[in-house]
Amino acid sequence: MSKKLIYMDYAATTPVKSEVLQAMMPYFTEKFGNPSSIYGISAENKKAITDAREVIAHSIHTSPENIYFTGGGSESDNWALKAAAEAYGTKGKHIITTKIEHHAILHTCEYLEKKGYDLTYLDVDENGLVNLEELEKAIREDTILISIMFANNEIGTIEPIEEIGKIARKHNVLFHTDAVQAYTQVPIDVEKMNIDMLSASGHKIYGPKGIGFLYIRKGVKIKSLIHGGAQERRRRAGTENVTGIIGMAKAVQLAMDNMEERTGRETAVRNHIIERLSKEIPYSRLNGDKVHRLPNNVNFSFQFVEGESILILLDSNGICASSGSACTSGSLDPSHVLLAIGLPHEIAHGSVRLTIGDETTIEDGDFVVDKLIEIIERLRNMSPLYEDFVKKHQS
Ligand SMILES: *Cc1c(COP(=O)(O)O)cnc(C)c1O
Repeated sequence: MSKKLIYMDYAATTPVKSEVLQAMMPYFTEKFGNPSSIYGISAENKKAITDAREVIAHSIHTSPENIYFTGGGSESDNWALKAAAEAYGTKGKHIITTKIEHHAILHTCEYLEKKGYDLTYLDVDENGLVNLEELEKAIREDTILISIMFANNEIGTIEPIEEIGKIARKHNVLFHTDAVQAYTQVPIDVEKMNIDMLSASGHKIYGPKGIGFLYIRKGVKIKSLIHGGAQERRRRAGTENVTGIIGMAKAVQLAMDNMEERTGRETAVRNHIIERLSKEIPYSRLNGDKVHRLPNNVNFSFQFVEGESILILLDSNGICASSGSACTSGSLDPSHVLLAIGLPHEIAHGSVRLTIGDETTIEDGDFVVDKLIEIIERLRNMSPLYEDFVKKHQS
């Protein structure tokens, strides 16, 4: 009997839905025309892209001319920050972000620091939330941009985006948000939330990899990051990734059509896993905010054990999970997010992220929790730290 595979790493990537693949297929073969050409098959593709752009614009309550397709979330983040820094660099050189951003933001900020920009990295509280008063205090005469993620990819905390948007607007500072994890999981209205730029990615929402978009509010002055042809209203050159665009729009349409029902189901599975882990594994803690939390995120620290060892044993039981962001695993540094919420190194090291998908069941959750209980007990029994701890508490 082949072992069942339980995938609980949907924040790292998702499979392409079959409806999405079906929608994409004709664009690889018979509908292969370059959308910039003038004959029939190309004009049809141009129309298909126009329709896709409308679906996506609708999903965040904006108009299609504010949507720019990119090569994914990282490109959107890079574009927003670098191009805004350049366009508004004469007005000022100060940019505000947080300590818990994805590396696509943080490493871009480091690059900008080398280019002479002045960065403020806001602290977050023990649940990963930005402090609004601190944000407002950090704004200066020369602040040109605030970039704060909509929801964190490791601990699932959802930031107070609407309040941040109000503060940015009040001080006339641009507001960008990395919404890669929040998109289609949480309702987003860029008008109501005063968002000037927003990044999203296809492969986190059951669409293909290598496609994403940047929403840029009309009037924001940023220039192209990729120079060349006149695609994307001269702001992002290169022959359109037609299959990717079609796939992403299909994924968005499916996700928006069932958002309430789907996220309700995910939340129930999430809460079930959180409750069982809290009750059944001693010396553990939930990371991230309990209430302002993505419907699909569970992140736990288990004392006296190594996250990497847990992952290896989970893997040998057919369970895919993660110990932080996919980009940081493989390095020995604990996650910058877990350190930012105040976890000591040794506890941050014993952390596991489980992110569920739209087909994950309560039974899948129970299976993973049961295995985790076994694995952690086994690892703790081999841990000298745990042995010392138990001895001290018995004497
Ligand atoms: C995955 C992710 C990205 C990067 O998106 P890609 O499409 O993989 O480049 C950026 N930000 C967050 C919060 C993410 O989770």
